[in-house]
Amino acid sequence: MIFLIATTNKNKKIEFSRILGPLGIEIRTADELGISLPEVEETGSTFEENALLKARSGCQVSGYPTLSDDSGLCVDALDGAPGIYSARFSGDDGENGDDEANNRKLLRELKDVPMPERTAHYACSVAAVFPDGREFTSYGECRGWIGFSERGSNGFGYDPLFLIDENHTFAEVSPEVKDSQSHRSRALQEMCHILEGELR
Ligand code: IMP
Repeated sequence: MIFLIATTNKNKKIEFSRILGPLGIEIRTADELGISLPEVEETGSTFEENALLKARSGCQVSGYPTLSDDSGLCVDALDGAPGIYSARFSGDDGENGDDEANNRKLLRELKDVPMPERTAHYACSVAAVFPDGREFTSYGECRGWIGFSERGSNGFGYDPLFLIDENHTFAEVSPEVKDSQSHRSRALQEMCHILEGELR
């Protein structure tokens, strides 16, 4: 069965395909289906709501069952920020809102916070919406700490600051190690179980 993935991110397509492929699900991007998706404003107040907004829109436009995800970094000492605003954390501060500026802002905001209080988690919600109106969501998270400086060159976003143990950031481990414990892979595993039941 063909599913649209409501993202242009190639890495996400690969990860969704790897985990959901064994169910007979074939993941296609909008480009591959020859359609163009409208930009969806992420007006939800949770990862789940934003994932659903994107999946509903994709399903409505394409007519295919549609998957999407929404994710971000939640830092305990910042009351859960940047959360759903992770991608544009530094955008309001006159900075350009890219990964480097976001990481600089995170380090600034945690300047006086000692290591034991620098706890954080990545969170991810995955949504699946079917043309007949069925909607499902799943959730995964991955706990760690925010370091005092950037380390490593793998991954993206906040990975150079996200310590998964005392010695490694997510940017210092292989993609395989990150995939095995990431918020996204955990949410996808749960979605895999949900869809397994639905497609039986
Ligand atoms: P999106 O849900 O893929 O749009 O991700 C939103 C933002 O959350 C990204 O732009 C990153 O800033 C952050 N983020 C989400 N997942 C990760 C991750 O696995 N590593 C690093 N940053 C992430």
